[in-house]
Parts: sequence; C-alpha cells; structure tokens
Amino acid sequence: MDSRLQLPITEVKGIGDKLAVHLNELGLFTVEDLLFYFPYRYDSYEIKPLTELIHDEKATIEGRLMTDPAVQYYGRKKSRLTMNLQVESFAVKAVMFNRAFAKNQLSAGDTVTVTGKWDQHRLQVTVSQFKKGPAENQEPIQPVYTLKESVTLVKLRKVIKSAIDEYSEDIQEILPEDYVLSYKLPARIQALKQMHYPESRVMLKHAKRRFIYEEFVIFQLKMQLLRKLQREATSGNAQQYDNRVLTQFVQSFPFELTDAQKRSLAEILKDMKSPYRMNRLLQGDVGSGKTAVAAISLYASITAGKQGALMVPTEILAEQHYESLTNLFNDKANIVLLTGSVKGKRRSQILDQVKNHEADIIIGTHALIQDDVAFSDLGFVIVDEQHRFGVNQRRALRDKGLHPDVLFMTATPIPRTLAITAFGDMDVSIIDEMPAGRKPVETYWVKGGLTERVLSFIQKEVKKGHQAYVICPLIEESEQLEVQDAIDLYHQLAEIYEPHITIGLMHGRLSNNEKEDVMKKFSSNEIQVLVSTTVVEVGVNVPNATLMVVHDAERFGLSQLHQLRGRVGRGAEQSYCILLADPKGDVGKERMRIMTETTDGFELSEQDLKLRGPGDFFGRKQSGMPEFKVGDMVHDYRALETARQDASEIISNDFLSKDERFRPLLQIIEQDANIQGRVLD
Ligand code: ADP
Ligand code: MG
Repeated sequence: MDSRLQLPITEVKGIGDKLAVHLNELGLFTVEDLLFYFPYRYDSYEIKPLTELIHDEKATIEGRLMTDPAVQYYGRKKSRLTMNLQVESFAVKAVMFNRAFAKNQLSAGDTVTVTGKWDQHRLQVTVSQFKKGPAENQEPIQPVYTLKESVTLVKLRKVIKSAIDEYSEDIQEILPEDYVLSYKLPARIQALKQMHYPESRVMLKHAKRRFIYEEFVIFQLKMQLLRKLQREATSGNAQQYDNRVLTQFVQSFPFELTDAQKRSLAEILKDMKSPYRMNRLLQGDVGSGKTAVAAISLYASITAGKQGALMVPTEILAEQHYESLTNLFNDKANIVLLTGSVKGKRRSQILDQVKNHEADIIIGTHALIQDDVAFSDLGFVIVDEQHRFGVNQRRALRDKGLHPDVLFMTATPIPRTLAITAFGDMDVSIIDEMPAGRKPVETYWVKGGLTERVLSFIQKEVKKGHQAYVICPLIEESEQLEVQDAIDLYHQLAEIYEPHITIGLMHGRLSNNEKEDVMKKFSSNEIQVLVSTTVVEVGVNVPNATLMVVHDAERFGLSQLHQLRGRVGRGAEQSYCILLADPKGDVGKERMRIMTETTDGFELSEQDLKLRGPGDFFGRKQSGMPEFKVGDMVHDYRALETARQDASEIISNDFLSKDERFRPLLQIIEQDANIQGRVLD
C-alpha cells in the first residue's frame, strides 16, 4: 500500500534534478515527504475594519494614497518611506523602511494593500509587506513554510500542488472509519489539502485537529507497544520478597507511612513480584518521603536474596542517603558508599564486597557505573533525581544486573501532560501528600537586594535557634562569576553578623573534603547562615534550617526555586522563603507571583511548563522529548490524552494484529525498526 508515495520526488511534475537537490536539503526525498511537508505557520491577510484591529499585532490594511509617498534618507543606505492613506474615513500613516524604490511605483490616488504591525494610538502601520492595488486576489490565509533560499514559496507550493493532483488517489485513510466519524475528523486527503491550501480558518482548524490526533495516536501506539514487547522480553525476574520481615521493618520506623507512601509502595512491590521487569517513576514533592519508600523497596529486594543500588547526582546527597539508610537499616543490611572521592584500597575493598555479595546495598554517584563495578546479583536499581542523568547512564547501571527492577525518583514533579508522553514507557507512582504536621513554607517576594528588613529577619530566625540559607544565582556561562558572587555575599554577611552569628560558604569550587566539612558544620549548627550556590539544590536535609533567601531569584526557573525552597520546611517549625527579585518582564513577575501563591510542586510544574514550553522544561541537554509535526504536547494535551486512551484500548485488545480496521496503522507502526516483525508472529 502507498507504494507510489514512496517514489522519489523527481517523479513529481515540475521537480528537476536541481530542485530535487534543494528539496533533499529540506529533508524531502519521497512524494510522501513532500505532501506532508506542512507549513509551520499561517499568515492572515484578512481585511478587517480598523476598529477591530489589535494594537501591536499584525494587520492588513487596504487604502488610497492621499498624497505621493515621501522618502527621507538617513544614515548610510537607510530610508523611510511614508504613505498617507485614507482607510474607511480615517487618515492612516503607513511607514516602510529601506524600500525607497517603491516611491516610483506609487502616486496619489493609487490603492495599496499593506501588512504590518498596527499602532492603534497613532493610527499607523509599520509595513513588512506591501502590494500595489486592492487586497482582492490575495489569499486571506497564507501558509508559511521553512524554506531554503534556493526554494521559493511559489515554487514549493507549485510542486506540492502537482503532487496532490497526481497522487491524491494514493493518500488513503489510515484511521478506522468509526474513529474518524466519532471525532468528526476530515478525511485524510481533504485535511491534507486544507493544510496547504486552507479555505478558511475553520477548515484549517479541523485539518490540524486531524493530523494532531493522527500523530499522537501513532506515537502512543508505538510507545505502548514497545513497552508491552519489552515487558514480555524481560519476564522471569519475579522477586520473592519476605512480606513478614518487611512489615516488621516498616513498623520499626518512627512514623507511620502516609496513604500516598503506602499506595506507591504497594505499586512497587506488585511490580517486583511480577515476572516482568519494573520500569517505574516515583514522583513526589521535596520532603514527601520518597526515601522511605525507596528504603523499604530496597529491603524487599534484599529479603528476596538480591542486591540493590541507589544512584544519586551529587556526593553530598550520596553521603546523606548513606547516613539515613544506615540508620534506618541498623544491622539489617550491609550498606556501602561509593563516590568519586572513594579511592585506592578502600575502593577495591568496596568493589570486592559488592562483587561477592557481602554488600547488600551500594549507594553512590556516577562512580557506580564505572566498568569495574560488578555485582553478584543486582536485583533492584534506584536512580534518584533521574533527570540529572543521561539516558545512557541510567541504562549503564541497569545493565549491571540481569533484568533488575528499576525505580526512578524525582522531586521535580513532571506535569501529567508531559509524563504521559515523555515517560510513555514508564509506569508512574505519585506521592501527592505530605507527612502530617508539615507547615507550608511561607513565601515572600521582596524587590531589591538584601534590605535592612531582610537582614533583620535573618537575625530574628537565628536568634530563635534556627538556621538560614542564602543562595546566589546560577550563572550558567560563568561558574567563575557565580562563585565570586557567593564569596562577595559571604564577606558582606560576615561583616554584618559575625561574631554573633557564624556564616558559612559553599560552592562548586570547593574540594569534596571542604564541602563535607561545611555541610557537617551546618548540620550541627556550628554555622547558622550558609551562603551557597545551587549546589545545595538537591536533597540536602537540615531540618533546623527554617529560612531560605534566594538572591536574584528572577534568574531561576520555577522548578528550581521550588527545589531550593524545599531545603526548608523539613522540621516542625514554621519556615520561610524570601525571594529577592527584580524581574523585568511579565513572565518573571508571574513566576514570583506563582511562587508566593502555591507550595504544591505539581501545580508549579504545570505553570512552569506553560511559561516555558515543553522544550525548555527538562533543559535542552537530555530532554528526549518527542517532536511532533503538528501537535503541541502542552497546547493539545486533551488530544494527547484521548490518543493515549485509544492506544491503550487498541493495544490491550490486540486490535493491531487481530482487527482488519487497524491494518493501515499497523503498517505505519511496523516501519519503526524496534517494532518491525514483532506484532504478528
Ligand atoms: P524526599 O526524599 O521525598 O525528599 P524524605 O524521604 O527525605 O523525602 O523525607 C523527608 C523527611 O520526612 C525525612 O526526615 C523522613 O524521615 C520524614 N518522613 C518520611 N515519611 C514520613 C512520614 N510518613 N511521616 C513523618 N515523617 C516522614
Ligand atoms: Mg530525597
């Protein structure tokens, strides 16, 4: 099926070898590529009454020249052409830069059509496009494609038109008819034509709606199918943990698990017992008690005779986890710590213990995935703050065992909308409840720097016996600068507060020993105010700290601010967060406002996503986010959710292999190299 669409583009009328080369550069090789090369934007050239135009937005205006255009020259080769137009009963000025040549084409009495930015107050348009004559003959909605210089819009549209004419019979429906009907989607060929030659905004909207659904459902089908195939391929790792011993362990805790912890734990244990490899993400706000859940699942694995590994992004965090797990486990397990600073003989001892199963649990940083780290029987892997590791690093740890169960943890709640796409191949457990007695951190936004008021607030908290963090911004381009800021601030505060209050300094340039030393002093309250860069962002746990001051807070994203704020509010006392910020733009102000209004990480992450867009959400480096041609995960999340449910129904009923209606979809999905030949056996 569709074979003619796979022909090279040179088969299309009007595409010679030369044009073909240029189209290839745009990634277009087959007829199908060309047909589905959609515009990324549509410009509107509709003429609207002046009163309906929106200030500062693009508008198209048709008017009559009341005088000959005037040209002013300034600078080198720069010019400004002014047209005085009569539009309806108004006098409108149209200003056009560096196109003085137009003066010779226009004279008083002519009709012109101009498009540009509309200034409502001055009744003026700054022209980006102009045409002599009335607006008619101009298509009101014009597609805009990504083009290379050598391929003009006119040329591209011409060859797309011939491709549609010649190949329309081959563009067949791929969705089952009942889906098309029940979602009222236009047929595939109709939708395709509208994408390139929209007749109206409404028709275009439905065409897009169709392709959004189509690409989402194909994406979801692939994800869910792969997950199913993967599950089946990794069967045989059921962990027979000892429920009785596990219950005793939980009962030895100084607190009772929250309902959300219990629920997540049950989900994890169920996965462990199942014959399939677990691939699960545990999401929970900072302080929601993920570590406790992690510890219990690690213990479950130990009672099943396996080893467990916990990988975290920083040494400080590794040490903290090591300490808290050692306390929790008492002598129930042999826990070892492996970080970059563990070297020489100590390191080889630890490696030996891990290799001959003397060690039950190994906690560490990237050091865990070095080649010479070998396990006797690794059954359970936890990756904390998983977004800080690349895909390959996560896989490297997993591959040190034979189908170990894998649990990822994150305190950066991922909006549901993203979780179902980015993590379509993972199950998700959510701890959406804080341990009882926690007081939400009161958050204030203060304009200006460390004012008198803020300084005395710090002093007041310290007098109560509490501690404070003062954070300096992360300046990605210059670690040097960042450290300098922290050092400056440290000296300033030392001058103001010492000797009554002891100030500490922490940043990425300190050696590990120095860092550890500072953290120990802060933990034991020898240091009351810790000036730091964002190295304390993740995981640091000092419950006596009740105040978080963030300098230049406008430089941080919402999720990061939330992480920083999570360093306080970990004890029973009321905690505070003060954001010192002078944001310039609206987005920055909005961020500060949101921070002061909610402490719910999930809500924050949804808002952050809206402000930043999905591309930025995880940071560019490792996003691994799928790219869609027409759909937008955030904007079109309802379609995405619908597609996810439909895909789930299709997969669980084996419709792809059993139901004729899904043949065309199956053919598309099977083009994926990972799926090829694995659906129908
Ligand atoms: P997370 O890893 O999600 O940030 P932690 O597991 O470090 O959170 O828990 C934060 C603090 O709350 C720890 O001191 C922990 O002992 C405590 N804690 C965890 N679960 C509970 C609970 N159910 N009730 C009371 N305190 C809890
Ligand atoms: Mg944690």
